[in-house]
Amino acid sequence: MEKPGIVVTGASGRMGQMLIRLLLDSDEARLVGALERPGHGWVGRDIGEAMGGRPAGVAVSDDPVPVIAAAQAVIDFTSPVATLAYAELTAQARAVHVIGTTGFDEEDLHQLTAAARHAPIIRAGNMSLGVNLLVGLTRKVAAALGEEWDIEVVEAHHRHKVDAPSGTALMLGEAAAEGRGATLGELRSPARDGITEARSTGSIGFAAIRGGDIVGEHDVIFAGQGERLVLRHVATDRAIFARGAIRAALWGQDKGPGEYDMHDVLGLN
Ligand code: NAP
Repeated sequence: MEKPGIVVTGASGRMGQMLIRLLLDSDEARLVGALERPGHGWVGRDIGEAMGGRPAGVAVSDDPVPVIAAAQAVIDFTSPVATLAYAELTAQARAVHVIGTTGFDEEDLHQLTAAARHAPIIRAGNMSLGVNLLVGLTRKVAAALGEEWDIEVVEAHHRHKVDAPSGTALMLGEAAAEGRGATLGELRSPARDGITEARSTGSIGFAAIRGGDIVGEHDVIFAGQGERLVLRHVATDRAIFARGAIRAALWGQDKGPGEYDMHDVLGLN
């Protein structure tokens, strides 16, 4: 059987370049397209050469329609506005859309749900095995400990990240809230700056650190009286997210329309 053809969006981005390198070496999937926004300096160039390596035989394009029409999957780590546009085209092509982009609002998520009526969408704020296990652990620990244990999610990322809290931090907060039989919307603490009210019992707080080249670190802190439990994940190499995304694209090949996440892909559900 022919290897599924995969298109990478945001080809010049940190995740885009990592995905392209892994796909060019892959025995299971092949790179069939590299997309960038119109006007980007890489458009028209061979993606391998643009990345400073050998020719890859795939030219960077700013015209997504024909590129996506020829693919079995699109792997997308860009921005919410770009991902929504790609979601419509990927659904029309009935291809699998793997979305690593973070920072969507409620209205954006409705649009993704609409696109998923036509083809599979696999979306996760974090594509690593370790973080997805951490989500399950967080849900269990939150369920086991009473609401007198304060829950705080602390995350650290590189200086270029624009959204906060990170998509992963929100996944962890949602899991903690589920463990307590509620939604994050009900339990989320307002951001703290200056004089704020004292912490309310049972709420879930967030703090974000931005600096240097930190790939991604997440602590879920359960702070009780006289003791503290900390669950921690540290990512040291972006390749973990890219490998997870490629695995998701392959997993999605025989799936019907619908919304899936990495728990489905990793068989953790
Ligand atoms: P990045 O280096 O800034 O790359 C983003 C890429 O998307 C760039 O090539 C950018 O092009 C392109 N892009 C942005 N807006 C676009 C638009 N409107 N139309 C077309 N292309 C557009 O960022 P990154 O570190 O790779 O991260 C990208 C996203 O993935 C972020 O949302 C991040 O939080 C998320 N992420 C998720 C995971 C996960 O496991 N789920 C892991 C890492 C990162 P320009 O350079 O022209 O702007």
